Amino acid sequence: MSADWLKPAIQAVAETLIAHSEELSDLDSAIGDGDHGHNMKRGFQAVLEQIDQIAAEEPPKALQKIGMTLVGKVGGASGPLYGTLFMQAGKSWDGTPSVAAVAAAVEGGLDGVKARGKATAGEKTMIDVWEPVVAALKEASDKSGADAAAAARSAAETGLEATREMKATKGRAAYLGERSIGHLDPGARSSELIVQTLSDLVSK
Ligand code: ADP
Ligand code: MG
Ligand code: MG
Repeated sequence: MSADWLKPAIQAVAETLIAHSEELSDLDSAIGDGDHGHNMKRGFQAVLEQIDQIAAEEPPKALQKIGMTLVGKVGGASGPLYGTLFMQAGKSWDGTPSVAAVAAAVEGGLDGVKARGKATAGEKTMIDVWEPVVAALKEASDKSGADAAAAARSAAETGLEATREMKATKGRAAYLGERSIGHLDPGARSSELIVQTLSDLVSK
């Protein structure tokens, strides 16, 4: 049986990313090739096209399906990386809607991204959002879902903002070296948008 919150959650995340597509591409124009918003839009439009099939699955399996859709539809670095994030998060989740189980799922996704992109925190990537989010969720394991969601949201914001002063050492932005400093990382912004959207839904 699928969960009744699943379809609205997928829809909200997809719509948020699509609505911010121009902003994400603008961020990518400053330090990359200007396509991050386009890439995310393409991937999440494909997710929306299949939303009924995806949301019919148990949540962990649904995450894996989203991941596979993104890998199949999105070119560039973010397709395989976001694909891995969702696939590994799904594989690392036992389906329990507890803060601890969700923390373990997101941590599984984060570990997958790190392995796939051979990157770590501090390199000005989406990892700089997901790593503090995992830490915040773990720390909030005995708190309510709403408190954990608020902690994750705030960790994502701080993580995103921290990418501004980082020098990129992975991905296309690394070609800019020192000139990447002073700009937010586009993948960190899209990640923060995902956390923000989900957090808002939990807090409602
Ligand atoms: P491309 O760089 O191929 O054009 P996108 O623009 O869609 O792909 O995605 C760029 C984002 O991908 C970056 O902002 C960064 O957050 C993320 N990224 C790039 N390389 C890595 C990596 N090795 N590990 C983690 N994230 C990465
Ligand atoms: Mg790009
Ligand atoms: Mg590209």
